[in-house]
Amino acid sequence: MSMTEHQSLTQVDQSARPSNFVNHERLNARLSEMAKIGATPGGGVNRAALTPEDAKAQLQLARWATDLGLFVTRDAIGNLFLRLEGTQPELLPVLSGSHIDSQPTGGKFDGIYGVIAALEAVQAIVESGCAVSRSVEVVAWVNEEGSRFAPSMMGSGVYAVLRSLDAALHLVDAEGVSVKAALQQLEPLFTSIPMRPMGLPIYRYIEAHIEQGPVLEKDGLEIGVVTGIQGKHTYKVTVTGEAAHAGTAPHKTRKDALLAAAGMVTALATELCDAQDITRFTVGRLNVYPNAPSVVPQEVVFSVDLRHPDRELLEQLSALVPEVCNRMAAPCSAHVERLYTAAPIEFDQRLQQNIEAAARDLGMTYRFMLSAAGHDAGPIQSKYPAGMIFVPSVSGITHNEAELTHPRDLTNGTQVLANVLWSLSME
Ligand SMILES: [Zn+2]
Repeated sequence: MSMTEHQSLTQVDQSARPSNFVNHERLNARLSEMAKIGATPGGGVNRAALTPEDAKAQLQLARWATDLGLFVTRDAIGNLFLRLEGTQPELLPVLSGSHIDSQPTGGKFDGIYGVIAALEAVQAIVESGCAVSRSVEVVAWVNEEGSRFAPSMMGSGVYAVLRSLDAALHLVDAEGVSVKAALQQLEPLFTSIPMRPMGLPIYRYIEAHIEQGPVLEKDGLEIGVVTGIQGKHTYKVTVTGEAAHAGTAPHKTRKDALLAAAGMVTALATELCDAQDITRFTVGRLNVYPNAPSVVPQEVVFSVDLRHPDRELLEQLSALVPEVCNRMAAPCSAHVERLYTAAPIEFDQRLQQNIEAAARDLGMTYRFMLSAAGHDAGPIQSKYPAGMIFVPSVSGITHNEAELTHPRDLTNGTQVLANVLWSLSME
């Protein structure tokens, strides 16, 4: 269905649009219910992937879905799917969701909002009486945060074949427990939920998420139409010098690894940052050896986290990291190791337009914006057209128990989602 047809359809009967059936109380009640699972004393949640709390939240979601008549399935990595069958079930389904797991001091909205919003959107479609041609599926991706099993975005990564199922099953947590063992331990809880094949093809993917940044709040806007996710490169830099007595060693002969590292960090900060403040450069960890007050530092190991939305520029900036470190190393030496590379992601253009049109139709204020953080929609966009809807985060606080999005904003995002999912299901 073209945009014009979509507009004329919504103009024919505004009252039947799914957004009118999004239930504000039900949405917030379900989020409150989920916030009890793994609740922390500080008002947040601690729901690490593949723990009993994670499973409990999945099972709660499955119960709501079953009550609504949705068909619930799981796959081999533990992603959970809730399917509203379309009138043409042979067509590829529209998928929407996010993740259930949290950081150890996580908030009540990161991830879970996108899952509950997708369920509410599907329920609104059902209650509106609007037929759907394509099936619409809600998904809860497993282990997005990566705080128990690194790396992050495991479930969506396996789904999009960015990493193999076998490799993911063999990831281990800090206690040496593998993903495979954790899944097996939880298996008895899921016996009533049928398994489905891994990575079934989809038509489109839409994820609603809290912004996790201050932009929408600062601009006084209701909806973010996400254009993409900035790319990220990380490095480990090892600076090798020579230990010496802090009192006796003359400065001329010293090989002070900390002084060399300080020069590298300062030079990197100067050379990597741009006037528009788009590049993100962080040295978040720096370890000094032997870390004794009266010993000239023999070795320093520090991290570099570099992010930029433009693929080519990110590569250019990234190449400066070893160059600058080696240039600034004397009289020590530097070893620069690239640890992680995630290319910038650009979301499907037409889905951005669909989200914009839905926000505009609903009279909501919006802007196009880049996501500073990674999301499951990133891996999915590598294989299928994907899009994201952001809602404001109060003061941009996230990965924090104080994380907050106002109930009105949660409902707005869900209304946009409901209309977008419905229109996609009719294509
Ligand atoms: Zn998230």
